Amino acid sequence: MTKISMKTPLVELDGDEMTRIIWADIKRLLLEPFIDLKTEYYDLGLPERDKTSDAVTVKAAEAIKRLGVGVKCATITPNAQRMEEYKLKEMWKSPNGTIRTILDGTVFRAPVLVNGVRPVVSNWKKPITIARHAYGDVYAGVEAYVPEGGRIELVLPDGERKLVKELSGGGIVQAIHNTDKSIISFARSCFNYALGTKQDLWFSAKDTISKIYDHRFKDIFALLYESEFRVRFEEAGIQYFYTLIDDAVARVIRSEGGFVWACKNYDGDVMSDMLATAFGSLAMMTSVLVSPDGKYEYEAAHGTVTRHFYRYMAGEQTSTNPVATIFAWSGALKKRAELDSLADLSAFADRLEAATIATIESGIMTKDLVGLFDMPGVAAKGVCTTDFLEAIAARLAG
Ligand code: NAP
Ligand code: MG
Repeated sequence: MTKISMKTPLVELDGDEMTRIIWADIKRLLLEPFIDLKTEYYDLGLPERDKTSDAVTVKAAEAIKRLGVGVKCATITPNAQRMEEYKLKEMWKSPNGTIRTILDGTVFRAPVLVNGVRPVVSNWKKPITIARHAYGDVYAGVEAYVPEGGRIELVLPDGERKLVKELSGGGIVQAIHNTDKSIISFARSCFNYALGTKQDLWFSAKDTISKIYDHRFKDIFALLYESEFRVRFEEAGIQYFYTLIDDAVARVIRSEGGFVWACKNYDGDVMSDMLATAFGSLAMMTSVLVSPDGKYEYEAAHGTVTRHFYRYMAGEQTSTNPVATIFAWSGALKKRAELDSLADLSAFADRLEAATIATIESGIMTKDLVGLFDMPGVAAKGVCTTDFLEAIAARLAG
């Protein structure tokens, strides 16, 4: 069999623990037999990040800037316990945070849907993609507890002092901010992503209550839409609309899915966890970082699945779900194929996704899905990760 060839390499960001094991297996069983795989490899495993004083993470992000498309394995974000476990020189920052800062991107999360694993909301038929603005607001807030009370003011650069509250007793205060630049990048990433995936875009905030802060978000989205995107949206047959977050929540539940929901930082944090759970499983949630100038980094939304890794190291076979990581690869390959006009590579990525879904729908799946699976006439069989990957490979080869 001749292998499918590639033009530009994908930026490959390897990671840690159980997902690192799965990563190698996906390449060996599902990719390398079919594709003459070209990647520029960066090892973001914690030992290598420590050895290079995290320079490898920065290099990988710069490679994505240069080449346009990356695929990333889950990585450990060190804490005190990991410092000890890996004997680290320093408590390195979250690689995702570092990459997001360099690419200035927005994270889009979408579930993989399979028949037999029904969303809790029965009318959801298509994925709902959440776009979370990952800058500012309460995540960069300044807070204080003022036990003695007193006059709280907001001092502006022009000297204006706005009264927040005259506190007569103990109380709490908080100051948050965002920037036009970051909101414009966020909006642009959302419009581009909606265009690229041909889905409607919704943006929601609370502008009725927050008449300056949230209103600024709404205005920036509207301005950018009118000046740069309206014509292209109309040509693509898709819509952009703004609605109050209360209304958005009600509409999302009643909808059948199939759209992108852009959320402010806190809303996106909370709503993405709700959607992941309601769609079935975090192990089926994919994630892509999109920069405003159209660079893409694909990954699974879950972490390195540490508990499974310790069992693996103890010699046990684990049943860790590789679906989100497979879809990170297929998503990246499809984007690469689109940019390099490689029809057979794109068709292969589609076949890989279809074979993965068909394997689950035939009743072969990892154990996390067994309890969720319900299809008349099909008995769910929980298998180990390798057997699951081999079943997909057999379908691809057949
Ligand atoms: P996690 O790795 O997502 O795993 C949490 C639990 O969810 C697992 O123990 C497992 O439950 C279940 N799970 C998640 N993914 C699964 C899969 N593919 N198949 C089967 N079950 C799955 O989160 P964590 O334990 O909080 O974090 C572990 C490490 O990952 C941390 O060091 C963290 O820094 C890192 N992390 C990285 C990323 C990233 O790189 N994007 C994101 C999040 C966390 P059971 O054990 O009950 O089976
Ligand atoms: Mg959250």
